[in-house]
Amino acid sequence: MAGGAGFLGSHLCDALLADGAQVLCVDSFLTGRRRNIAHLEGNPRFELFECDVCDPMPVALQRRAGRIDAVLNLACAASPPHYQADPEHTLMTCVLGTRNLLRLAEMAGARFLLASTSEVYGDPQVHPQTEEYRGCVNPIGPRACYDEGKRAAETLAFDYLRAGRVETRVARIFNTYGPRMRADDGRVVSNVVTQALAGQDITIYGDGSQTRSFCYVDDLVAGLLRLLALDPRPPGPVNLGNPEELRVTELVDRVVLLTRSRSAVVRRPLPVDDPQRRRPDITLAKRLLGWQPRTGLAAGLKATISWFEQEARWVPPVPAANDDGRHAALLLGAARRGRA
Ligand code: NAD
Ligand code: UDP
Repeated sequence: MAGGAGFLGSHLCDALLADGAQVLCVDSFLTGRRRNIAHLEGNPRFELFECDVCDPMPVALQRRAGRIDAVLNLACAASPPHYQADPEHTLMTCVLGTRNLLRLAEMAGARFLLASTSEVYGDPQVHPQTEEYRGCVNPIGPRACYDEGKRAAETLAFDYLRAGRVETRVARIFNTYGPRMRADDGRVVSNVVTQALAGQDITIYGDGSQTRSFCYVDDLVAGLLRLLALDPRPPGPVNLGNPEELRVTELVDRVVLLTRSRSAVVRRPLPVDDPQRRRPDITLAKRLLGWQPRTGLAAGLKATISWFEQEARWVPPVPAANDDGRHAALLLGAARRGRA
């Protein structure tokens, strides 16, 4: 599992271990955290390989290839300010990282699962988004390193499949939230919840009329496991997400109500190329996987809020978008750039 120390990856590690699997976790800790997997240290069925997926896979891991049944690629910063901090590295993570992991899967004769994204649909002109829709991505905008990176990763996955090299599955994941998101992640749920709890101004980008559909992490992980286990494999990518669509302003209202927050709401510029509407059509996932989300927004937000309340040490939420609509750059990628 690549990206196993991240938000989704660490939950997936837990679920796989609970199923009795042995998990080899690959992570560079770019956005992931040791404390997400600290409880797994000492588990004889869990092993950590600290490395960047852009680099060749560690020899110790390659030596284990004969015993690997599945390679899951979740390695990639997922929050806009994080993936835009070092766009070149984000693109390379998607392309080179996916190639390295596909080669590992090929060597192992293992099936391969790619965590792709609803961002492959860009700012969609078709609503809700079905898997057939080919998307509307700006290839030269600030989100392109991620959107085009994931599109290229999908391309590689299906090229390997067509060539009979690896049996691939692609999940197009829509906005997912829950415990273990970083307080400084920069995504809307973590920002709004931490701001509301801390009594800080709640930042709405643009007029807040843009929509998203938020899936609770446990539901998403259940969907990924079903997709991984499905036989025969689905013919193409599968959307995984919660079709309950709401405006950003509605999300803020829900969080304010649940936290009884007295925070003021402030407006910040809408980031460039921010999609206006997003909702998954999950007909295919329902039919193929017998899967649909079970956790409503109220229950999911309550669990997320309690988790953030228990987080002993918060780092302040990420700064809002710059005046020209670009995300404020974080220094996350700096160390990496120095290495490149
Ligand atoms: P995350 O940032 O918490 O996790 C990403 C993990 O990948 C981190 O542990 C990070 O350290 C690791 N990583 C990043 N680049 C790496 C590299 N080059 N080499 C090795 N490790 C690297 O994000 P997340 O929300 O858990 O997302 C996980 C995956 O799911 C990502 O691939 C993301 O694109 C995809 N996804 C997530 C969402 C969502 O809403 N959470 C939506 C769509 C797609
Ligand atoms: N957003 C916001 N305030 C914030 C963070 C994000 O209004 O503090 C908006 C953002 O502009 C987008 C939506 O919330 O329209 C979802 O943003 P997020 O970064 O969570 O996910 P993505 O844009 O990648 O779907």
